[in-house]
Amino acid sequence: MTVGVLALQGNFADHCRVLRNIGCTCEEVRSLRELALVDRLIIPGGESTVIGRLLFESGLSQEIISRHREGSLPVFGTCAGAIVLATEVMGAPAPSLRLMDMSIERNAYGRQLQSFQTNLAICGHATPIPVSFIRAPKIVRTGPSVDVLATHGGHPVLVRQGDVLAATFHPEVHEEAVLHRLFMEM
Ligand code: GLN
Repeated sequence: MTVGVLALQGNFADHCRVLRNIGCTCEEVRSLRELALVDRLIIPGGESTVIGRLLFESGLSQEIISRHREGSLPVFGTCAGAIVLATEVMGAPAPSLRLMDMSIERNAYGRQLQSFQTNLAICGHATPIPVSFIRAPKIVRTGPSVDVLATHGGHPVLVRQGDVLAATFHPEVHEEAVLHRLFMEM
């Protein structure tokens, strides 16, 4: 089982570090050839406009969407990665793969100064885990087939729809690997 981490822009290196720490085989993905070698894909945080644009320019978007339809590519998006998974992006537009039935508002907590760390209770996990919200988006609507696995301030922050997982925060900047393990089990 090889986990791909989309490495077009953003914080892909920390995802690779966490995955390797828990013994996963991990490959950076920048091309269709590299995407063909992986069994699941993490889309990291960064700048959703840049990640979204490069996904569509490279042709990776079409391949991710078709493998998603076949059921052969579980996907985990974090922060900007969650934005590019949403069916509706609010605030400033960003290109999206539309794999998760949710509306998400970019930069909804304010600017960099309003970024924060917190301990988050995750459904099915006994102890809260440390996470960082960095110029994070807010999920403002979820569709009927979306499961909410964690909330913060009354908003969903970790959601799952089938084999797609999305977090509005960065789990990968901490040593905790709970969500990476959860994704590996999906
Ligand atoms: N603010 C960024 C965006 O809207 C997301 C920030 C992040 O991924 N940490 O794309």
